[in-house]
Amino acid sequence: MNGTVENVIETIKNRYPEQKEFQQAVTEVLQSLEPAVEKHPEFVENKILERIVEPERTVIFRVAWMDDNKQININRGYRVQFNSAIGPYKGGLRFHPTVSLSILKFLGFEQIFKNSLTGLSMGGAKGGSDFDPKEKSDTEIMHFCQAFMNELWRYIGPDTDVPAGDIGVGGREIGYMFGQYRKIQNAFTGVLTGKGLEWGGSFIRPEATGYGATYFVEEMLKARGDENGINGKVVTISGSGNVAQYAVQKVNQLGGKVVTVSDSNGTIYDPEGVSGKKFDFFMDLKQNRMGRIKEYADEFGVEYMEGKRPWSIPCDIAMPCATQNEIEKDDAEQIVANGCIAVCEGANMPSTLEAIEIFLESGVSFGPGKAANAGGVACSGLEMAQNSMRIRWSPEEVEEKLHEIMRNIHRNAYETATMYDPNPRPDGIRNYVIGANIAGFLKVAKAMIAQGII
Ligand code: NDP
Repeated sequence: MNGTVENVIETIKNRYPEQKEFQQAVTEVLQSLEPAVEKHPEFVENKILERIVEPERTVIFRVAWMDDNKQININRGYRVQFNSAIGPYKGGLRFHPTVSLSILKFLGFEQIFKNSLTGLSMGGAKGGSDFDPKEKSDTEIMHFCQAFMNELWRYIGPDTDVPAGDIGVGGREIGYMFGQYRKIQNAFTGVLTGKGLEWGGSFIRPEATGYGATYFVEEMLKARGDENGINGKVVTISGSGNVAQYAVQKVNQLGGKVVTVSDSNGTIYDPEGVSGKKFDFFMDLKQNRMGRIKEYADEFGVEYMEGKRPWSIPCDIAMPCATQNEIEKDDAEQIVANGCIAVCEGANMPSTLEAIEIFLESGVSFGPGKAANAGGVACSGLEMAQNSMRIRWSPEEVEEKLHEIMRNIHRNAYETATMYDPNPRPDGIRNYVIGANIAGFLKVAKAMIAQGII
């Protein structure tokens, strides 16, 4: 391994021994940057790697709120403002009991490169809380969101930091946080994205991550010379949240068949596909009734695999769209053995390092999250642009721009891999991990050098 890369990874492991997810993300990114570091000694001279792994600012704060039983609850709030060399900090807020500094640092770090890849001017950040929104009343959610924003407002702003949603933060939560920010600041600004259509939101933002990941699959298949694309392919999807829902919808629109969706309790396997009336049921279950995925199996008499992930089910394409580290080594081996040709990460870091290695070695086209799920933040960038201009584009205009951005991200990752991969495969299948990481990194690294030692 390159000396600088090795040293920086070691420093992070020693300095933050408990931050396993952050170490994993830094290791994955930095190892793949080696060819770029070899080619550009100025990155070493300017200590770009050492600087880029340290957030510009991290805020941790108390969130005290009262529940419906008049009990006081205390949660932790976070915002990790990682890098603003190419634009205002941008990245989601996650509300989930597993949220920790390690998780948010890994997400914020990945966000730097993802945002750079979109071609828009956005820095990288991530935030959230260990608050668990499950089984909370609407009033409790509102009280929590208001309490969270009572502190977060000091650190964000339309030209400083523009948070968005992530796990556990959807349109409802963005609404409550936006309302509180607007009241505190006495200003209606584009400070959050993922807003409602009536108050500054963009068409296609809810759909953007799932649609974008599916467009990315299409591009990877075309690059393999598979002109049919998704049409006629069997697809396994994990998760049943925002990303999964719209990935299912776009796969259906493009003629593929989605045979699994899941939640943290289990997976449903529907060999006929989650489409037509079944898709309508699925969307109503998850978006309106906040139900569990098992109810789909109860309704349609299909198999429910309690406590299992979808990866044992044979497929042409696998799209992990739930959470980090949900495809481990054994899962990856099974996916490959079943004949899968493409894995596309709708979620952030759903594949472990060992799993990624297996995909790359076996000739599966592997779309890493930071390229494949960049459609969400890209559309957030389009929402920011519309807010600044005080205009709104039509759904068709936004979707076309999203599609174009995803094609560009694929091309950029593909061409960068062609240029930098020291061990290209003889069959021509590109290493998109190298391509995406280096393409995202180069722009940020050059901006950091140009802006001096800060
Ligand atoms: P949602 O909260 O809408 O959905 C998350 C889904 O994943 C749910 O089905 C949830 O099941 C499941 N899930 C969560 N944690 C676990 C776990 N530990 N084990 C198994 N299943 C789990 O989130 P999103 O769809 O928005 O996000 C999904 C992923 O995509 C995340 O990694 C996120 O960071 C990433 N992402 C999201 C973007 C967006 O625009 N929303 C943009 C880019 C990336 P349950 O209901 O049981 O918790």
